[in-house]
Amino acid sequence: MYLIPSHEMLKKAQRCGYAVPAFNVHNLETVQVVVETAAAMSSPVILAGTPGTFTYAGIDYLVAICQSAARQHRLPFALHLDHHEALPDIERKVEAGVRSVMIDGSHLPFEENVATVSRVAQLCHRYGISVEAELGQLVGQEDDLTVDEKHGAFTDPDAAAEFAKRTGIDSLAVAIGSAHGLYKGEPKLDFPRLEQIRRRVDIPLVLHGASGLPEKMVREAIGLGVCKVNVATELKIAFADAVKGYFKENPEANDPRHYMAPGKVAMRKVVEEKISICGSAGKL
Ligand SMILES: [Zn+2]
Repeated sequence: MYLIPSHEMLKKAQRCGYAVPAFNVHNLETVQVVVETAAAMSSPVILAGTPGTFTYAGIDYLVAICQSAARQHRLPFALHLDHHEALPDIERKVEAGVRSVMIDGSHLPFEENVATVSRVAQLCHRYGISVEAELGQLVGQEDDLTVDEKHGAFTDPDAAAEFAKRTGIDSLAVAIGSAHGLYKGEPKLDFPRLEQIRRRVDIPLVLHGASGLPEKMVREAIGLGVCKVNVATELKIAFADAVKGYFKENPEANDPRHYMAPGKVAMRKVVEEKISICGSAGKL
């Protein structure tokens, strides 16, 4: 059917106590895996693309692939801009058909973050487009975004309440100890902080950096009010490892229809697992 905004699906998740998984996609194959698995499990999902992904795939190509996937399955899907920073870039992608946006001003001082996010929210809300923003900063690396330990910062619950109120955003990404990319050492989440944020902020909360987090932690975060769970790295690893294995066994292989297939199978398993952890199966 259509690419839709994400706020209604997140609000429903918030009301019903589950989370919508957001999976980072890069190309035809990864979109197919996410959409086919979501359709088979009747799960709402968000297809997410970083600026680097849109540059790689081409804005119109990526939007068209996601629209075709939604049409083919007669299901609504959200295509979401992950960690976007520049208003003209966001406008261009909105014009191309995107209906869900993350404006990431988390690296900016508080007032500048508020001003930047408010501008994007005002523009997007004129067209019914959903807006996510982040307060605090996750450490780690995701595509071109790198934050070292020194610059990471947890979300302050009082500041989060003020931020949500002043910007008018639809969902808030929180920094409570999760990290982008792979975890160095045992992951730890600050659940009391999440509880404090939940008490003060009534919009859906988003957990970035769920790759590599133990299932129990993700479930606990959802129990405490997280309604969107972002997964990127684990999908890439599963896909790449399976393709590497295929080439190891078939060094002469050169047909993408053959060597991509095990990558898709491996990625599908991760998507299924995350949908089941999020509790979103059957909620479409
Ligand atoms: Zn992220």
